[in-house]
Amino acid sequence: MAEEEDELLGERLLFLPDRHVRYFQRSLQALPEQCSSLETSRLTIAFFALSGLDMLDSLHVVNKAEIIEWIYSLQVLPTEDKSNLDRCGFRGSSCLGLPFNPSKGHGIYHPYDSGHIAMTYTALSSLLILGDDLSRVNKEACLAGLRALQLPDGSLLYLRSFCAVPEGSENDMRFVYCASCICYMLNDWSGMDMEKSIEYIRRSMSYENALGQGAGLEAHGGSTFCGIASLCLMGKLEDVFSEKELNRIRRWCIMRQQNGFHGRPNKPVDTCYSFWVGATLTLLDIFKYTHFEKNRNFILSTQDRLVGGFAKWPDSHPDALHAYFGICGLSLMGESGINEVHPALNVSVTTYKHLQRLHDSWKAKNHETSSNHLHPTT
Ligand SMILES: [Zn+2]
Repeated sequence: MAEEEDELLGERLLFLPDRHVRYFQRSLQALPEQCSSLETSRLTIAFFALSGLDMLDSLHVVNKAEIIEWIYSLQVLPTEDKSNLDRCGFRGSSCLGLPFNPSKGHGIYHPYDSGHIAMTYTALSSLLILGDDLSRVNKEACLAGLRALQLPDGSLLYLRSFCAVPEGSENDMRFVYCASCICYMLNDWSGMDMEKSIEYIRRSMSYENALGQGAGLEAHGGSTFCGIASLCLMGKLEDVFSEKELNRIRRWCIMRQQNGFHGRPNKPVDTCYSFWVGATLTLLDIFKYTHFEKNRNFILSTQDRLVGGFAKWPDSHPDALHAYFGICGLSLMGESGINEVHPALNVSVTTYKHLQRLHDSWKAKNHETSSNHLHPTT
């Protein structure tokens, strides 16, 4: 009986990459009306679609040059007097109606214009995915904008997004991760106080032995990923947690597997945790001890076989986030037809290598400039 069931499942649960390529292509062009509230964070949807296509080796289906220009047009640039430096970064869409400007030149001041940490993170990732060299990114301005968001307790606050929230806005581990990715990609950690961020991550360790969104909060698969991946990007994981502590985190994470993974005890399994928890277990070097077939079957049970994409649960509507993380979850298990995902930076390993080459060329250039400075030729 069990064998029969497995066979049936095996027959139904085929991975359909072509459907997903078309799903991501469509997500870049038009979205259903129900998604209109996502307009101010359109860049994040573009990131899911672009990184999804990258994972499926199908970026040839998009006009890369055109999308690169669009992303640069969302950069919040310093004005001539640099009075808005602390608001720089990337905005999520063109909804403010500012003139299209993909250059690195002076920006135009608008009282509600400011970058958003998640948009800066996804803008930089998307540019790298598209093969851009980040030469038009105003790095100093991005880093200044980032520094302005760090709170005294080490967490990152995103203030002043398009719709300013006068009573303050959320601040938690997700933004610590966005900030770590931004610093890592720009190869410059002056965008944050690393010691304070590390302290914030440490204090988020809950009594359950995994990380919450902040101190005293319930451990969660998403925040555990954000904290552990941030420490990996900083190169500090082993300095911050002892082997004993890491083993406790490993135990909590591995217990999150049911068939797929859930984010907290007694919660239903959800496709995206196959990445959040799966990537954390990969970073902690014990993903190999999980049950791949059960995980794969759950992820594929949420695949939309008609329109493509993945949903969080079986028989639900697919969305760009779960479509992307479903594919990343399968990538961690080496599914054929999917590129390898970099578990800490959340891009394909191909894109990660492109970034490494960029960093090498920046270092070489810096070296040249500093030796020219020491030995002027004129
Ligand atoms: Zn989810």
